[in-house]
Amino acid sequence: MHLLIPAAGSGSRMKAGKNKLLINLKGRSLLYWTLRSVFSSKSISWVGIIGQPFDKENIMHSIEEYSKDIRWINGGKTRQESVNNGLHNLPSNAKKVLIHDGARCLIKPSHIDRCSSELDTNEAIVLAVRVTDTIKVVNKFGFVKETPDRANLWAAQTPQGFLVDKLKEAHSIAIKNEWIVTDDASLFERLNWEVKIIEGDSSNIKITRPVDIKVANLFLNSD
Ligand code: C5P
Repeated sequence: MHLLIPAAGSGSRMKAGKNKLLINLKGRSLLYWTLRSVFSSKSISWVGIIGQPFDKENIMHSIEEYSKDIRWINGGKTRQESVNNGLHNLPSNAKKVLIHDGARCLIKPSHIDRCSSELDTNEAIVLAVRVTDTIKVVNKFGFVKETPDRANLWAAQTPQGFLVDKLKEAHSIAIKNEWIVTDDASLFERLNWEVKIIEGDSSNIKITRPVDIKVANLFLNSD
């Protein structure tokens, strides 16, 4: 299985003054922990990291032990653009791909393997968890409009997995139609292509805000 890691964000919500994937967690970069899980999984044979050219030296230094096993790909202005660049730099024999956000460093290797095996029987999958909060849809004035039934709500995580040709097609349709999305499964939904939910767990957080660093440190220290 091929795996692409979008790592080209600026991490503005983290306010770290640098790419959040370079933040130190237990003596190593955040991205190192993501890669450690990826390389501990059994199903991944090829890994591409999509990053900004100006971050390349620092990123490669922070993941030194894996640097010879990964392919570097230049990222774009948005996550969507970064993933699209990644897809066009996959080896030509790549039939299926998992996309996993660099910022989800607590992903379990077993969940990566589960996503890989689910792609044997599905064209698109997304790891997700049931929502436990009651979610409100809010209007632009800050007032609640509605409360969707929680039983139907899942929070999407990564990995998300796809047949490469289909995901490439979805991205090129998105470019033509100027669709802007925050994950790849959204493109499939807009096209009415099926995406299967794979139940993950709530430890697979996306490190986004300073409090997430504290949570990640707790998890990493409990290993
Ligand atoms: O900003 P957010 O946390 O939603 O980004 C999710 C992932 O997408 C992160 O791992 C980030 O590095 C990546 N990203 C990217 N290219 C961008 C913006 C974000 O690869 N231009």
